[in-house]
Amino acid sequence: MKTVDDYNFNNKQALIRVDFNVPLNENMEVTDANRIEAAKPTIIKILEDGGSVVLMSHLGRPKGRESKYSLQHIVNKVSEVLGVEVKFVEDCIGEEVEKVVGKLQPGEILLLENLRFHEEETKGDEEFAKKLSRLGDIYVNDAFGTAHRAHASTTVVAKFFEDKCFGYLLAKEIKSIDKVLNSKEKPVTAVLGGAKVSSKITVIENILDKIDHLIIGGGMTYTFIKAQGGKIGNSLVEEDKQELALEILKKAKEKGVEVHLPVDSIIADSFSEQASTQTESVDNIPDGWMGLDIGPETIKNFSNVISKSKIILWNGPLGVFEMETFAKGTIQLGEAIAEATKNGAFSLVGGGDSVAAVKKFGLEDKVSYVSTGGGAMLEMLEGKSLPGIEAIGE
Ligand code: AMP
Repeated sequence: MKTVDDYNFNNKQALIRVDFNVPLNENMEVTDANRIEAAKPTIIKILEDGGSVVLMSHLGRPKGRESKYSLQHIVNKVSEVLGVEVKFVEDCIGEEVEKVVGKLQPGEILLLENLRFHEEETKGDEEFAKKLSRLGDIYVNDAFGTAHRAHASTTVVAKFFEDKCFGYLLAKEIKSIDKVLNSKEKPVTAVLGGAKVSSKITVIENILDKIDHLIIGGGMTYTFIKAQGGKIGNSLVEEDKQELALEILKKAKEKGVEVHLPVDSIIADSFSEQASTQTESVDNIPDGWMGLDIGPETIKNFSNVISKSKIILWNGPLGVFEMETFAKGTIQLGEAIAEATKNGAFSLVGGGDSVAAVKKFGLEDKVSYVSTGGGAMLEMLEGKSLPGIEAIGE
């Protein structure tokens, strides 16, 4: 895998696709600069080599040139985070842009305007990509969040460069997922939670060959329990996925994967923070009640499996963690994963809601790696090759 370490950028101009799709408040101020921080090591390495940097990114989903999606809003924040004054140009292709880029000196950084102000970006337009390619000598992709999209700046542009490589962030994402999927260390445990079986099914099918333990929690649980004949009351269920759930259990058994389902639940009489709650067997939930978190016995069982695991993948919360009353299972499992990590396990957390949970409960620095790209990570776990990664090649 070619990374920025394979190049000396002295007197070279790097065209870097970053993911600066950051949240802004109503005053157009950046409220979370994590994605900018994440791109910093790659940018600094290039500057320290004596190179110059042209940054390109999208922001939101603008329909044409909508000023609220201008990357101008983030220039000061990018300068602050990088500790270098960042220049800005009001487009991402064209003569004016090329003129500014041509004057860029080693040590300088230029941020281009939102790529998605041109609809050719998401269409993966060749001509547009070719125009972008005039803005650098070496193409660097450091945007994992869009690596599963065959857009002009993430994929098509690469074909116009002899010299191209991954930035540190993207390289780390790829290595972390590879560590889980192709691990020589055992046991490998996947913790899958979240709402639905249907959104995780392709992931489950692909990883069954790579893991030793599958822990299932969250809303998904009840489709499995009902399929096995349990009483689930008013818990979340996908009626039409019961067959599939049984098939997964059968396949897991054939492949020697131990499946761990909850044995007890925190049940509630309404989907609300103020609901009355009880602890109940997962397969004996009365009508009018629903399981919204894993129970204490389950936490003990799951934590036990986690403590013996060498590689841990966590995707999806174990309960309705957004409400404090039903957050305990997610918190305690997160803490068990943090503890295992401290004892030498490798842990990868990914997928929108589990990342939010890890951040909310202060576990971000206690796991080995938190993936920055939900959709891209899920597609890699599903066994798909990502166009943005293929475009750079070996
Ligand atoms: P996903 O995007 O599929 O990972 O689902 C995440 C969502 O699942 C979160 O918003 C959780 O609140 C929700 N969730 C987790 N456990 C349950 C449950 N037992 N019942 C209903 N929703 C749940």
